[in-house]
Amino acid sequence: EGMSCQDLAAALALNDSEIVKVLFMKGIAITVNQTLDEDTVKLVCKEFEVEVVEAGTIRVEDLAKKSNTFIDDEDLEHLESRPPVVTIMGHVDHGKTSLLDFIRKTKVAAGEAGGITQGIGAYSVDVTVEGEVHPCVFLDTPGHEAFSAMRARGARVTDIAVVVVAADDGVRPQTLEAIAHAKAADVPIVIAINKIDKDGANADVVMQELSSHGLMPEEWGGDIPMVKVSAKKGTGVDSLLENVVLVAELQELSANPERTAKGTVIEASLDKARGPLATLLVQNGTLRKGDIVLCGETYGKVRALMDHTGARVDEARPSAAVQILGLNEVPVAGDEFEIFDSLDVARSKAQEHAEVMRQSRLAAQAGEGKVTLHSFANAVAASAETGVERHQLNVVLKVDAQGSVEAIREVLQQLPQDTVALRFLLQSTGEISASDVELAVASGAVVIGFNVGVQPSVKTQADAEGVEIRLYRVIYDLVDDIRKAMEGLLEDVE
Ligand code: GDP
Repeated sequence: EGMSCQDLAAALALNDSEIVKVLFMKGIAITVNQTLDEDTVKLVCKEFEVEVVEAGTIRVEDLAKKSNTFIDDEDLEHLESRPPVVTIMGHVDHGKTSLLDFIRKTKVAAGEAGGITQGIGAYSVDVTVEGEVHPCVFLDTPGHEAFSAMRARGARVTDIAVVVVAADDGVRPQTLEAIAHAKAADVPIVIAINKIDKDGANADVVMQELSSHGLMPEEWGGDIPMVKVSAKKGTGVDSLLENVVLVAELQELSANPERTAKGTVIEASLDKARGPLATLLVQNGTLRKGDIVLCGETYGKVRALMDHTGARVDEARPSAAVQILGLNEVPVAGDEFEIFDSLDVARSKAQEHAEVMRQSRLAAQAGEGKVTLHSFANAVAASAETGVERHQLNVVLKVDAQGSVEAIREVLQQLPQDTVALRFLLQSTGEISASDVELAVASGAVVIGFNVGVQPSVKTQADAEGVEIRLYRVIYDLVDDIRKAMEGLLEDVE
């Protein structure tokens, strides 16, 4: 039987492309629309350290599941309760941004900095339940970034997932993906049935659909809170927040505020005036001004901490998200951070980390994934010695206009292909993007651009991953280079 690549991706809380890539690296070329047989499914699951419980359906059990990786044995005597960290997920247009906006505008206390909330990627909300105030931290990046990045590292950033489903549209592919992400990370789900103000909204249909996907509403005797809301009018939002608090209480979330801080970088950027900025989510311990922090390849002494209102604060306790100043470079979102006693130690750890990353990039480049028109030409030229009679040149082609796609393709396909088969993995219009580079890495392809540009960040990514990008303005030059590569004659081209 097997299952489709997309279903498997959803079950494993991964992107389709990650599965394509893993299989490609094992010499199996598939497309995202393809059905994978059971052995292939098992192969993928093994690669992601997941045990298949029932092949053919999307029930898999995550072996890499860990509770909170940020708590050590020494913390156990000093645990105190901490606020939940909440992520809002769901299908596009179902109202994630509207819900986050409503909560931010109505529930976030105006800070000293004139009530202007800064976009630091997270904010804290006080929810009152039966007279008691419960703070909750919302991650302000709708979508799955937080889940994917943390999952790759086996860590957890989120304690509760609010999955938004529009009552006039029902359960859609990204709804299921969000649910799969949350389940894979063992994060409890609260459903927000949104847009109940709209004509044609039908909450019962949504609940029916969700229960057929294994989420039984509390209302029907199950264990999943499902709250009807209107993000536009604000109806039901208080009840949604109360449910979040109740689910959080069941989890008994705790951390040790007495120790030095540990956690995850959730956002990072470069400010022209102030230098590298990073938002850190403190997942254990307390972060203070003056602490020496190491995040991946970057380090520095924390010069200032700012909360979501832009106000300077002296410390950030467990579950707080703060923006910090003082790192030497911009860290990578998803990297974990920790505190060191000395700047020298942090610096050498950062350098060590950078060296490891550099080595692994070099290794990746030296591997078979690396293809350039030159290396390809050499491989063709060496056919007699290597005994390889057939070659395949994989190309990702990006051009300025649809008309050029056809023109270029037509000319290229007239080239004799008896020893070399030319395969277009992608041919489309627009600037060369990060995902084009990823596709090229995954499939050992060369990226060719005709009358299109490439952002410096994409160029840097391509260099780091060993992908060749060749840009052309003249069709003749483009075709000529490819012809030479196919004939094993590229020496005279730079
Ligand atoms: P996202 O893609 O999930 O972030 O969705 P958005 O928050 O951008 O919402 C998509 C569209 O639905 C926007 O036009 C919103 O104004 C609209 N919308 C969101 N929530 C509601 C709601 O509760 N009621 C109504 N009538 N429209 C809503």
